[in-house]
Amino acid sequence: MLTFQQVTKKYSNGRVALDNVSFHIDEGEFVFLVGSSGAGKSTAIRLIIRQETPTSGDILFEGIKVNKLKGDKLARYRRDIGIVFQDFKLLSARTVAENVAFVLEVSGKPYSFIKKAVDYILDLVGLSDKRNAFPATLSGGEQQRVAIARAIVTEPKMLIADEPTGNLDRSNAWDIIQLFNKINNWGTTVVIATHDTEIVDSLNKRVIRFENGRLVRDNVGGYHF
Ligand code: ADP
Repeated sequence: MLTFQQVTKKYSNGRVALDNVSFHIDEGEFVFLVGSSGAGKSTAIRLIIRQETPTSGDILFEGIKVNKLKGDKLARYRRDIGIVFQDFKLLSARTVAENVAFVLEVSGKPYSFIKKAVDYILDLVGLSDKRNAFPATLSGGEQQRVAIARAIVTEPKMLIADEPTGNLDRSNAWDIIQLFNKINNWGTTVVIATHDTEIVDSLNKRVIRFENGRLVRDNVGGYHF
């Protein structure tokens, strides 16, 4: 589904954030991208979501070069991927339901469809009773669940998260990871960048590890294994 082919990313300040990185993720996989701060995890995510393009090498999604996409094709690709950030990035002037509905409204879906989809997704993430609440009145864990609801309401093929538990306490972090696991069990590919050792250890999933921009490990196991 997703392939990095000898990807190098050098930022304009000369910093090499990824150095000749290659890996392949199959449809339906659950993968952690790990490594200490500055290792290159966020850069890998930014390349996947096409916020950045590689200096050399290619990123392929279902055989198509993501780094070469433009216009309509890029917009269509972005609809195939759902994104969750550490700081949630919710719209503060909109309610929970409006935050989740927003992306469907933008894509021109009819009201009846949007209502049904939002109800369904809010139930799924356990936030039906908070549908009319504003983000500022929610706990961190609830805000992250809204962000996940928003990311999956469009039924993306791949869900990507950058440090999704970074701002959460242990109990909320664990709930969020269980939610990712559930979404993965329905067939959505899940890629999570994290340095949360406890969560990686407890899930025993595939781990891709970066050190100084280099891929130094790619196998199933705990964080340090
Ligand atoms: P991680 O997510 O693992 O902490 P990053 O991908 O954010 O790692 O960073 C990898 C390296 O690239 C670091 O040395 C960082 O300072 C550098 N870097 C990240 N983003 C930029 C940028 N926009 N411009 C210049 N250097 C950057």
